[in-house]
Amino acid sequence: MDVSRLLDGLNDKQREAVGAPLSNMLVLAGAGSGKTRVLTHRIAWLMQVEQQSPYSILAVTFTNKAAAEMRERVEKVVGSNMGRMWIGTFHGLAHRILRTHFQDANLPQSFQIIDSDDQLRLLKRILKSLNLDDKQYPPRQAQAYINGKKDQGLRPKHIDAGGFPIEQNLLNIYKIYQESCDRAGLVDFAEILLRAHELWLNKPHILNHYQDRFRHILVDEFQDTNAIQYAWIRVLAGNSANVMIVGDDDQSIYGWRGAQIENLHRFLKDFPGAETVRLEQNYRSTGNILKASNDLIANNPERLGKKLWTEDKDGEPISVYCAFNEMDEAKFIVGRINDWQDKGGSLSDCAILYRSNAQSRVLEEALLHRGLAYRIYGGLRFFERQEIKDAMGYMRLINNKDDDAAFERVVNTPTRGIGDRTLEIIRSTARQQQLTLWQASLRLLEEKVLAGRAANAVRGFMDLIINMRTDTADMLLYRMADSVINQSGLRAMYEAEKGEKAQARIENLNELVTAARSFEMPEELEDMGELNAFLSHAALEAGEGQADAFTDAVQLMTLHSAKGLEFPMVFMAGVEEGIFPSKMALDEGDRLDEERRLCYVGMTRAMQKLYISYAESRRIYGREDYARPSRFINEIPQEYVEQIRLQAQVSPSMSSRFPSRTPAPSFSQSSANTTGFSVGQRVKHFKFAEGVVTNFEGTGEKARIQVNFRDFGSKWLLVSLAKLEAC
Ligand code: ATP
Ligand code: MG
Repeated sequence: MDVSRLLDGLNDKQREAVGAPLSNMLVLAGAGSGKTRVLTHRIAWLMQVEQQSPYSILAVTFTNKAAAEMRERVEKVVGSNMGRMWIGTFHGLAHRILRTHFQDANLPQSFQIIDSDDQLRLLKRILKSLNLDDKQYPPRQAQAYINGKKDQGLRPKHIDAGGFPIEQNLLNIYKIYQESCDRAGLVDFAEILLRAHELWLNKPHILNHYQDRFRHILVDEFQDTNAIQYAWIRVLAGNSANVMIVGDDDQSIYGWRGAQIENLHRFLKDFPGAETVRLEQNYRSTGNILKASNDLIANNPERLGKKLWTEDKDGEPISVYCAFNEMDEAKFIVGRINDWQDKGGSLSDCAILYRSNAQSRVLEEALLHRGLAYRIYGGLRFFERQEIKDAMGYMRLINNKDDDAAFERVVNTPTRGIGDRTLEIIRSTARQQQLTLWQASLRLLEEKVLAGRAANAVRGFMDLIINMRTDTADMLLYRMADSVINQSGLRAMYEAEKGEKAQARIENLNELVTAARSFEMPEELEDMGELNAFLSHAALEAGEGQADAFTDAVQLMTLHSAKGLEFPMVFMAGVEEGIFPSKMALDEGDRLDEERRLCYVGMTRAMQKLYISYAESRRIYGREDYARPSRFINEIPQEYVEQIRLQAQVSPSMSSRFPSRTPAPSFSQSSANTTGFSVGQRVKHFKFAEGVVTNFEGTGEKARIQVNFRDFGSKWLLVSLAKLEAC
């Protein structure tokens, strides 16, 4: 056995961790220092040097993508297939265990996962049935309450609401919500972990089986584990497994979702003999990027404190771009990506990171405009899109008539004359008689409580589901998807809607058929049936498999989703006060620290080149804001920064809006701009209404101006005829 191969490409500290005797271990180190690499090599070491079977190893990563990458990397080092090794996310692994032991977990075999959107709908319904005012009890608050409690491992019976009416009501909502999920065989995300943990506690023989099996547990990104995840690992590890965790307190960015940095300390206390290994050399970024990131994060109090250094040269400075508005920002970014590509770079080397999903739309438009392929991770996930969820709602009901969330979603989509009043009757019957919505509807029809048109409409819906179920019973999954889209009337509904948006929805529905066609049944889930497996896959992996991974494409994602990844060229867009740090964080000190950690995560994704941009005015969330650059930009020492200013000519109206800008002599295009307008300026046209100037060409009589109109898209116009007005 060639041990040196396993230690090749590792520094002394990394080797110490990879080759340590079997024991508990914490690898604590900053971004890009090789934590994930250590974890991967350790797995290979366990198998090849310690002669441990892949069957005895459990590796937990943060995303499915990271899990796939890790499996691939281990297979490369070891040179064989790791089929039997369990590697996945907390949710994915816990889900797998629940599927195997559904009876012991008190779940029906066909249980389904609901995402936060479905959860919110269910809660809205419950609040309504309790006659609670949703101003006083916003559904989102109830949702946060329930998930928060579950993340802490708490069932209603564990909670003492004291004498506080609000807390008592929330507790009551939690109870009713849980009962209706249980009746309908629905499991939310937090529930997956909580149930899997309870399974450990309630069924010692199952726990023993897994404890005997998993002798080695390895967890990446440990700083972002929450209480229930920690407890799950701790119980599973028992007293004899060897646990290696790797993490970085400076990259803890899920505090808002209950993650606890303290778990790093707790680990050292709870796991006897755990050694701490620190890594200090960064292999990812240039000197400038690394030093700037170190200086930024130094502004946070209460850090464990780490020093990172690199052998790499300083590289280019960080470019900070000040844009007129969000469109100008997008155009700038896309321009740089184009240049990169012209110089032979690939698109997938470039990542655009933003604080909130809503920012992606403008960037997407700019990329589309230039014909650059892009791919979105997280956020606007394929399986989260309205039309996809509608179609999946039908598939879920076919799979399980008692799926209340799916029932709610599609009972009147497309509209079929089932009014709010009828639904209210169904809901309250369900609640009073402890039935699912389907069962309640059936009873109301039998007992003729529902009559006339309402009864016909409900019966029509139920017949439709039953017929679809019969018709599709023997179909291949993708034929079934196609048939459901047609029979349900969804396709006709969107076809009738017309317009680009509806067209996109139809394309998405078509894509769903493709997704079903290329769906591969995971080996371990073979028993559960293809439809059921596909539905779970959609709920769990939402989006991660959306575009095919082989197209060279720019990567778009939120800063949160970028954790653990790296790219040669990174753009951080919308780095403005109120966006990043977010408005909410501005009011709370703790959250501001977490935003800064998020900024640190973003900056340290960059290997060679980092761009940071902000816009002086931005249309977002339906309004227009004027913002200042983020404090984080000011926290980066100037020596690492190069400021880029737009070279467009500033019209009188623009300079009054943006007094800080110094006019530059000319627009940097092949010809001078003589139009009196400037790039990024908002203008009005008598026919096309409002738009934004994006380009110019020609001079004098022939001068043309390109305007991207809000409702009509991009157009080239002759300036002399267009009669544009500044607005
Ligand atoms: P993050 O905190 O962002 O998750 P990390 O600590 O997990 O980062 P890795 O992703 O494992 O860091 O490594 C960062 C980069 O450095 C990777 O490209 C990795 O292959 C490379 N790298 C790690 N260790 C070495 C080494 N000893 N020699 C050369 N390259 C290395
Ligand atoms: Mg990592």
